[in-house]
Amino acid sequence: MRQKVIAGNWKMNNDLNESVLLINEIKEKLVDRDNVKVIIAPPFTSLDRASQLISNSNISLSAQNMCYEDSGAFTGAVSASMLKSVGCEYVILGHSERRTLFGEDNSLINKKIKKAIVSNLIPIFCIGETLEERESGEMKNVIEKQVREGLEGISEHDLSNAILAYEPAWAIGTGKVATPEQAQEVHAFIRNLLKELYSEDLANKTVIQYGGSVKPENAAELIGQLDIDGALVGGACLKAESFAGIVNNA
Ligand code: PEP
Repeated sequence: MRQKVIAGNWKMNNDLNESVLLINEIKEKLVDRDNVKVIIAPPFTSLDRASQLISNSNISLSAQNMCYEDSGAFTGAVSASMLKSVGCEYVILGHSERRTLFGEDNSLINKKIKKAIVSNLIPIFCIGETLEERESGEMKNVIEKQVREGLEGISEHDLSNAILAYEPAWAIGTGKVATPEQAQEVHAFIRNLLKELYSEDLANKTVIQYGGSVKPENAAELIGQLDIDGALVGGACLKAESFAGIVNNA
């Protein structure tokens, strides 16, 4: 059985002091659940401190992005080994905000995923369509292209721990959540694609999270769908109560 994975993507929120407060509150409110993995993704500036604060808990640490190069003249960039050195186990790659606001395309994301894997960081690889793509009937083509190009040249063995996150861009930060049926349909499509590209075994064991306006009130129904293995949470992870509520309802 696949484990449920709930990850909180803090985005560009919380300075160091605010991060400390939020992590301490999350720790207080979380009920330990054997079958639910909890991950937080604070901004780069809070990762080191976050890692110390969660060291005696079941919470794991993720970064929100990373560079595909190891080191050198890449002003403003952060490498995989830097993330490892501050305790990250995961890295979110291909988030729709990185795609739309920072021009990241499938081939760049593919390089980052490869670098994360060789560096022993687990990628949380985000894919999802815009409203326009959904309404024009292009949704499945867009998602298939993101998966094929994002995973190009990556072996089944190397992909065995990776997490995928289906995040329809129209549901991110908008309060519009995909219905459980809409989300399940796409998750099943992605799982089938993994079966075609790799194997039934990989498809069956890969965690595919849903992301897009997940809250404590809608988490159980979404995560209760056959192919939905958890959530990547934005807005609702900035309050300890709602993040813990999602984990506790998962
Ligand atoms: C996200 O940014 O990954 C996300 C899902 O955001 P929200 O939960 O706010 O829609």
